[in-house]
Amino acid sequence: MAVRNIRQLGDGMLKKKCREIKEITPRIRELIEDMKETMYEANGVGLAAPQVGVLKRVVVIDIGEGPLVLVNPRLLQSSGEQTGEEGCLSVPGKYGIVTRPMHVKIEAWNEEMEYMVVEGDELLARAICHEIDHLEGQMYVEKVEDGLHDVEYEEE
Ligand code: ZN
Repeated sequence: MAVRNIRQLGDGMLKKKCREIKEITPRIRELIEDMKETMYEANGVGLAAPQVGVLKRVVVIDIGEGPLVLVNPRLLQSSGEQTGEEGCLSVPGKYGIVTRPMHVKIEAWNEEMEYMVVEGDELLARAICHEIDHLEGQMYVEKVEDGLHDVEYEEE
């Protein structure tokens, strides 16, 4: 396993649409392990493959409940609304206010290519939407409601 370099805002990779994963090859397995390690090392809540320069539809998320690996995630339903702070490992030291659904239901596959339906509220719903956007080449900075702000303290 290895920590990979996180692409920063302005990198063309972050604007590209990602391709579906057809099977979990040893290379994809290594990518997923590296993405988890990279996310934890950076104290992030989520990381999408294009952020480490790979245009494949896989994201990792951990909101403090253990890692969630989502291969080819697709939104099935969303409801409600939440407006709050959002940040991104590709835009370090910044945050912005973004409105997202309060509840989402998605389908995805895990790292064993087993089908699953995942439901999430609040932070998990926000993280899922943020990461799926990355797979479409979209960044949260395009959705912020009153610009980007500097983070004034670093959380341990
Ligand atoms: Zn992000």
